Amino acid sequence: MPSYPSSETNGRYNVIYVENHAFDYPVSQAILAKNTGATIIRIHNYKDVFNRSRQNPIYQKQHPSLILAVKPEPFLYLGPDVCQNFGYDAFYYSNFLLNCPFDCEYCYLGGMYTSAHTVAFVNTEDFRKSILDTSRKHERMLLALSYDTDLAAFDGMYSYTREVSGWLNDMPGLSIEIRTKSANTALIQNLRPSSSLIFAFSLSPQSVIDRYERHTPGLEARIRTVKAALSAGHPVRLCFDPVFTDDTFREDYDLFFEHIFKRLPADKIRDVSYGFFRMNDAFFKRIARYRPNSLLYLDDYEITDHVVGVQSDLRESVSSRHLEKIYAHIPKERVFVL
Ligand code: SF4
Repeated sequence: MPSYPSSETNGRYNVIYVENHAFDYPVSQAILAKNTGATIIRIHNYKDVFNRSRQNPIYQKQHPSLILAVKPEPFLYLGPDVCQNFGYDAFYYSNFLLNCPFDCEYCYLGGMYTSAHTVAFVNTEDFRKSILDTSRKHERMLLALSYDTDLAAFDGMYSYTREVSGWLNDMPGLSIEIRTKSANTALIQNLRPSSSLIFAFSLSPQSVIDRYERHTPGLEARIRTVKAALSAGHPVRLCFDPVFTDDTFREDYDLFFEHIFKRLPADKIRDVSYGFFRMNDAFFKRIARYRPNSLLYLDDYEITDHVVGVQSDLRESVSSRHLEKIYAHIPKERVFVL
């Protein structure tokens, strides 16, 4: 049985690699208790499995295993320039997980890692201490927790989001962003809302989801989840990112923005992020080798500072058309464009 029978990790893993020193952590125990039928393989270090050469991430994505590991320092990284910092003084990201239950064709993870297995780091207390120390150095700090994964989609296996939400009282200057394509309404409805915990929902036209976002919930399911988050009182960010400029999507995007703001109350949305497909050039080249038939990796792009992106004239014409529609509902100061 593939480990992801549905789009979210409610399924079980067939194989779980566990670092020798990771067994006794509560996170490991909780995950192993949910996977009693799995074959458990003891390992010395997660990199022995995860970084092995000659793996095929595209094939592995059909049968991913889980690796439970203890993360060494560092626990936080400076936010990259290709990501939006939403005006905070300090912007960091952190990874409880490496790799993602979903399989988006445009995702850079396939270029960054040689494996499609998921690594779950179990030493959450070390993360907590590091986040606390760093947040004390900044008046307003943003921490993105769902960049190299979709944390909410893993919630059925272990709820890192719930654990982190319990830390926030001790970290007054900190805002956390959980970016997701998940339709995990249970997480959202059962979590106490906090002005410091922002759910950022990635939304795309259904035609884009069908073409590029394998195993993810459809647009309507995501809209229902956004509504659930708003009803529960969570701060909500809408992410129209990445946007695709292919002519076949032109009309779909026009209808999409109208649909979104018909279905969702714009005045309740905290802010919006908008950006185009872009990727580090080394990752792009590696993925293009794995996905030789993907039109996405055959298209014409410009490369600036090692970032492959949509050509600037096209970016300008498409964004002005889209932003006009977004600004009709959300004031400019709440729309962050990258
Ligand atoms: S949801 Fe995000 S992290 Fe997961 S595969 Fe898609 S783009 Fe990558």
